[in-house]
Amino acid sequence: MADQTHNDDVQHEPTATSTWSRLLAGNRRFAQGKMTHAWQDCETRESLLDSQRPDAAVLSCSDSRVPPEIIFDAGLGDMFTVRTAGQIIDDSVLASLEYAVDKLHVSLLVILGHQHCGAIQAAETQLGVLASRVRHGDDSPETAQSLASVIDEIEAIDDAQTAETAQDQLEESLEHLVAEATSPIVRSVGPSVLQAYEAQLRNHEDIERVHIAHTIEELVDRSQPIQQALADERLMLVGARYCMDTGLVEVLSF
Ligand SMILES: [Zn+2]
Repeated sequence: MADQTHNDDVQHEPTATSTWSRLLAGNRRFAQGKMTHAWQDCETRESLLDSQRPDAAVLSCSDSRVPPEIIFDAGLGDMFTVRTAGQIIDDSVLASLEYAVDKLHVSLLVILGHQHCGAIQAAETQLGVLASRVRHGDDSPETAQSLASVIDEIEAIDDAQTAETAQDQLEESLEHLVAEATSPIVRSVGPSVLQAYEAQLRNHEDIERVHIAHTIEELVDRSQPIQQALADERLMLVGARYCMDTGLVEVLSF
């Protein structure tokens, strides 16, 4: 395969850009149903007994439909993967990614979100429940409105001053309720949903993209070793979103 090299076979250290190109080429093969399933054989397994030298780390959602090794047509030893619902970050995720960067010396870190992410839908639904509570004191998930309809209702208020006060109260209360939520998904994904709504982005696809950007921001903010690796130009950090309907990974630029 001209566009495919295994990390054990390359003569020089692959650059982050060439690694990313190789992964995207693997994704195109996957999307076209032309996977090679390279480096998944017994020889590769045996060659990796003593050590691993992955070129890339991937933080992705745990969703059963988005396994990174499959969608990038990668093999054993190719990528160090960390997966949580909604690719949310906690201390274990940080420690695992920092291990990949500092000990395994990956040069590429991919934050991979995806289309139809249930964690984002769940956070958005829960925000509707919280917004209904703020607006109407209604605490029941069954009768709760969506976040969009609560916002629409406020925007439809005739008196500009009343609408503005209601809007400010909703934003302030939601930020507080999200920060205090017991669900880690609501605490992590909730701010992304709020950020998207503030930017007038309400469709799921846009919220998924905002969440990827937000995850990258949070990762850099919380991890000194990753900040350092970026400053030393030892690491390239990219955001991407996997589209289930085409099988292709969309590269995001922020
Ligand atoms: Zn997901």
